[in-house]
Parts: sequence; C-alpha cells; structure tokens
Amino acid sequence: MEKKLKPCPFCTENGAHIQRVGGSYFVRCLFCGVTTRFFTDEQEAIDAWNRRAGR
Ligand SMILES: [Zn+2]
Repeated sequence: MEKKLKPCPFCTENGAHIQRVGGSYFVRCLFCGVTTRFFTDEQEAIDAWNRRAGR
C-alpha cells in the first residue's frame, strides 16, 4: 500500500499531511484546511483522502 497522498481535491495544492491525535489519524490540507474524518488506522485515513482526491 502506498503512503502517498494525492493533491488536494479542493485547492489542488500538494498540502496534504497525515495528522495524528492520540490514537486517531486524519489527513488535512495545509492550504485550505479540508480534512478527512478520524480513523484509527493511518492507512485508512490515507485511502479515504486518496478516494476523495481521485477523479
Ligand atoms: Zn486544499
């Protein structure tokens, strides 16, 4: 599984970063602030972001 994050689907910048809060992970765009929801698994957060970004 790739850990690569696709560019942001909203602002198209490469600002996506994985954020960890306690035992939860989410992906956030540093440019426009859009986030995924929280996931307990890092890879699920990445996949959720990439599904949203993938068009
Ligand atoms: Zn963005």
